[in-house]
Amino acid sequence: MIAYQQALNIIESTAQPLPVVSVPLGAAAGTVIAADLPCPNAVPPFDNSAMDGFAVRAQDTAGATQNAPVSLRVIGMVTAGESANGVSGDPGSAWEIMTGAPVPAGYDGVIPVEQVEVQRDPQGKPIGIELRQEVVAGRNLRSAGEDFSRGDALLVAGQLIQAHQIMGLAATGVSNIEVRKPARVAAITTGNELTDTDTALEPGKIHDSNGPYLEAAIASVGAYNAGVYRSSDSADELISLVKKLQDKTDIILTTGGVSAGRMDFVPAALEQLGADILFHRVAIRPGKPILFARLPNATLVFGLPGNPIAVAVGLRFFVVPAMRHMNGQPVEQFATAILKQDQPKKAGLTFFAKAHARSDSEGRLLAEVLPGQESFKIKPLMQANCWALLAADGDAAVGGSSVQIAPLSPGLF
Ligand code: AMP
Ligand code: MG
Repeated sequence: MIAYQQALNIIESTAQPLPVVSVPLGAAAGTVIAADLPCPNAVPPFDNSAMDGFAVRAQDTAGATQNAPVSLRVIGMVTAGESANGVSGDPGSAWEIMTGAPVPAGYDGVIPVEQVEVQRDPQGKPIGIELRQEVVAGRNLRSAGEDFSRGDALLVAGQLIQAHQIMGLAATGVSNIEVRKPARVAAITTGNELTDTDTALEPGKIHDSNGPYLEAAIASVGAYNAGVYRSSDSADELISLVKKLQDKTDIILTTGGVSAGRMDFVPAALEQLGADILFHRVAIRPGKPILFARLPNATLVFGLPGNPIAVAVGLRFFVVPAMRHMNGQPVEQFATAILKQDQPKKAGLTFFAKAHARSDSEGRLLAEVLPGQESFKIKPLMQANCWALLAADGDAAVGGSSVQIAPLSPGLF
């Protein structure tokens, strides 16, 4: 049996980088950028106003006070979307300007409409303003390139593209982006006892919860769902499913049939397929019998034990690190919290605990290991908001000590 870190090392040295594809920005959410991306365009693209008001020359406003107002002629108006090319600010003049509109050349500050007295013509158009305060140069201006300047590092290789990144990519005029092609992941649940959710249970049978879980979870960890299948406890059936799937997938997950019981046929089936078994059994709980193999065509196989929590742990702490490596992402860094109470555990096993983290009144992050840590108990997982990682050493994690916590979905920290 190997330690969790050794298993991660084997995964990292086995998993190969995914191919790079170009995708339109609209399809980039959830993918990982393949190479550093310099910023192609400055944002804002031009100096513009941060307020609805009047563009002025700061020097014209020098000395304006409550008792000594300064009057300026209003000689034009510019709204967002209009060009101010060819316009210039004469001494003693101002332009009416809207938020986001380009600041005409010669003006170097904007005073909000609420802070001036406006004289209007009979049609309501401003013709003059009176200021009772100075406007310093740069006031209420957004300068060209103040947010992004051209050539800035916009994204670095390995960065996950989410809605926030898409906002900046769109603003800087990036329309296509080179990303890693999402890993194609298929899953095969195994077990003679497994029954579809919409079918009444016969004696001895249970509903298959791993299949629907993986159906939902594969996409949520950034992979492409290449299908979720089910096999009875039959090596032949599993072998024919793997043969059918291996050339269409980068990763195949199996659930069940991987420990040491009479019906645990998955390792032997993989060997018959010519797979290299890279590890089998890791010093963790839940999910100790986990297996990792590589098929002759290079598709990776994670043989996850059948208990539902072992499947969730296998996906989160084995498959996700493999995918991150294939995507060129750095090793995930977890946050630290204070363990709320003593937690007994089996010495020598890294324990992935269903946990709930929240801040206390002093702003410290506390992690509570939830009752019901057995690997068949799903209900506490539904109430968890994180995993607490209890180190392998020792037969208890001590209340008040620091523990790592992993968000349920990867990449949040
Ligand atoms: P196994 O690893 O095949 O020995 O299964 C371990 C436990 O997980 C047994 O109680 C199985 O009935 C249960 N189990 C296996 N596969 C599933 C599944 N797809 N959904 C729910 N429970 C399962
Ligand atoms: Mg089984």
